Amino acid sequence: MRAVLVRPPNPGVELGEAPTPSLASGAVRVRVLECGVCGTDHDIVRGKYGTAPSGSPDLILGHENLGEVLEVGAGVVGWSPGDLVVATVRRGCGRCRFCRTNRSDFCETGLFTERGIGGAHGYMAEQYVDLPEYLVKVPPALRLVAVLLEPLSVVEKAIFQGQRVLDRKEPTPGEPKTGTPSALVAGTGAIGMLAALTLAVRGYSVTAIDRHGEDTPAAQLLARIGAGHANVGGGMAPLGDRKFDLVIEATGSVSLDFTLIDRLASNGVLVLTGIPDAEGPLLPVSGGALLRDVVLGNQAIVGSVNANRTYFEAGLRDLTVFEERWPGAVGGLISTRAPLESYRAVLTERSGGTIKTVLAVTPGGATGAP
Ligand SMILES: [Zn+2]
Ligand SMILES: [Zn+2]
Repeated sequence: MRAVLVRPPNPGVELGEAPTPSLASGAVRVRVLECGVCGTDHDIVRGKYGTAPSGSPDLILGHENLGEVLEVGAGVVGWSPGDLVVATVRRGCGRCRFCRTNRSDFCETGLFTERGIGGAHGYMAEQYVDLPEYLVKVPPALRLVAVLLEPLSVVEKAIFQGQRVLDRKEPTPGEPKTGTPSALVAGTGAIGMLAALTLAVRGYSVTAIDRHGEDTPAAQLLARIGAGHANVGGGMAPLGDRKFDLVIEATGSVSLDFTLIDRLASNGVLVLTGIPDAEGPLLPVSGGALLRDVVLGNQAIVGSVNANRTYFEAGLRDLTVFEERWPGAVGGLISTRAPLESYRAVLTERSGGTIKTVLAVTPGGATGAP
């Protein structure tokens, strides 16, 4: 079968041939319709990240996925050919208490694998085979947006972690809370925009920042959902002296991360989701002043990575809510559905102004259009 192959830690990417996986009993065979492309894929193609499965020189790339069931193995119940499906990414270590209870996103050993990223083949191939426990069934109504479910699962987890921290200050769990909480979203790529949509649905007053003006699709979508937008390309002055209860960071910029600590309200929480460059330059930081405010303000800084199945299920519910509240808006995050043959440009060039590029592994992707 055709597959997009990388050979980490070497940079580069090829469209090549890979063995079609065999269908074991208890497993499901899926035809891949489309895969989203994100910064992690770019990092793997640049040789900065990723590992091939043991015994294989190549890694099939791709972790943001949408497919259609082709065939079910013996003993599989609840799945039929034609079902729409999104697969989760991480496969647990099988040893720690989190992986043994379906929460491999909190794995303690680091011995997990991640399909399309580390130690297990991904989804940029004509087919894959996996166990039902890793597959999430997608309602047909969400077909055109479901490729966003994997990045949305990351957002769902990040917001849930932040909410857990905010809930510390509530006197009684379950009691109604007063006031409208405020949220700042840093970055208007797919993660940032999905966070803005999710926080708007959760009743937050949302402001998003990036380094662009009001003429981008992201800024227009933010206006449509009633969220604020500020261009901080020249510094944070457009935010004035505003502080926020929940800050979701989705850029991976280390210098911005430190700036965001300063934007926390009392009892606020900063959730970091962008992956910083560990080899970046040293930064001058007024550590004492920043951390003094963290202590005196009961503030928290939380990292959040990956997502277990419960967050995919939460994401499915929210995709439905987005479509009801702002028809077509979430689909607007998919800037381009590119044919598989354009894999090299899509995976090596970062085009400004686009939110999410999707590779149509099957011609037409989810649209089915030739
Ligand atoms: Zn991704
Ligand atoms: Zn584990």
